[in-house]
Amino acid sequence: MVGGGPAGLTAAFYLALFGHEVTVFEAHSEAGGMLRFALPEYRLPKAVLAKEIELIRRLGVNFLFNQNVGADIHLNDLDAQFDAVFLSIGTWKEAWVYLPGTELKGVMPALPFLEGVAKNEPVALGRRVAIIGGGNAAIDSARTALRKGATVTVIYRRERKDMPAIREEVEAAEQEGAHFVFLASPHRIMGENGSVKAIEMVKTRLGEFDGSGRRRPISTEEIQSFKCDTVILAVGEAVDRDFCKASGLSIKESGTLEYDRYTLETSRDKFYAGGDLISGASNVSNAMGYGKKAARNIDQRLMGEARAQEFLPQFEYDQTPPAQVSESRRHHPHPLPAKERVKSFQEAELALTCEEALEEASRCLRCDIRENGIPVSHAKEK
Ligand SMILES: Cc1cc2nc3c(=O)[nH]c(=O)nc-3n(C[C@H](O)[C@H](O)[C@H](O)COP(=O)(O)OP(=O)(O)OC[C@H]3O[C@@H](n4cnc5c(N)ncnc54)[C@H](O)[C@@H]3O)c2cc1C
Repeated sequence: MVGGGPAGLTAAFYLALFGHEVTVFEAHSEAGGMLRFALPEYRLPKAVLAKEIELIRRLGVNFLFNQNVGADIHLNDLDAQFDAVFLSIGTWKEAWVYLPGTELKGVMPALPFLEGVAKNEPVALGRRVAIIGGGNAAIDSARTALRKGATVTVIYRRERKDMPAIREEVEAAEQEGAHFVFLASPHRIMGENGSVKAIEMVKTRLGEFDGSGRRRPISTEEIQSFKCDTVILAVGEAVDRDFCKASGLSIKESGTLEYDRYTLETSRDKFYAGGDLISGASNVSNAMGYGKKAARNIDQRLMGEARAQEFLPQFEYDQTPPAQVSESRRHHPHPLPAKERVKSFQEAELALTCEEALEEASRCLRCDIRENGIPVSHAKEK
């Protein structure tokens, strides 16, 4: 495996279960990928993640940390040493906004900021922070900066409903005190003595729909500015094209890696790929799905037969609704009050109580069983 994020960890887990010897080469000093170095502690406690990774290690998976493949060890070496290689290096190349002023002290990309906080390193954050972007990295940066005592303004060029960030996260950030400026995009960052002093934004209006299904923001003549001393750029994460090119791997026009959608094989024999590297910045379950699929395909190639089903539990659903349907309502996790949770990095949403978990587990979720097109299930939503 190259990369120990959710895709690489999942592939390692299944391949170890199938009886293979597995080595994970990881550029960081720990496994977990974005879950370890980008998602903040208040959303995903690192002790929980460490326990999950320990289970994978105990299956016999060998982790080699601080191994930057392409720099510390080359793909040709992996080719010579291993029967198959799964590439899952994610999207750690941060997009950059080319504006006057980005060279000033106080301008930083979101990932190094989140990573610095996740590693407990000192981060040079001012008191007034402007965040450019509308994705999860922008909102995680906003909520992290709030917890560091800053006042935070998120600037997004479209409308709230167009934000790619998880809706509940945006709401939580707002409850915790983040300000939002919609329909505005950065124009210029102004400085004094080499450090950020203010940001100028140009108002946007929405034009025609673009390929993403959202209306394209168009700059107007209207300029606004406000004082700030830190600007965090959270405008997207991309695949490291240089790594792919230097490794002799073909890249699609969209910037992600070329691969066979059925087998996950890349343009290079023996090399498979998955996770954000092939989908572009996506989500954890997607990355894990690729890891599992890659493990199945690699096993089949190495063993010459499709064996994975033997090892994985088979689920068979019949068309009989449960005799007794639970009338329990859906339970939700319990968020700490905004004023309290913003004071620390303690987990912001507490899990269900034991009783709630039992009720939740006994709810009928068989909405797929229908009679005359109507779900047979009686479980109440909300
Ligand atoms: C701020 C932020 C918040 C997010 N929030 C959510 C969320 O709430 N829910 C959700 O489902 N998804 C979320 N995501 C997306 C999710 O984290 C990713 O989709 C997922 O982690 C992708 O998994 P991956 O294994 O493909 O890549 P990654 O998690 O990026 O792991 C790649 C691994 O490869 C390593 N690596 C990179 N280059 C090399 C190299 N040359 N040699 C060796 N190792 C290398 C990296 O160090 C890393 O450990 C978020 C992402 C970000 C950035």
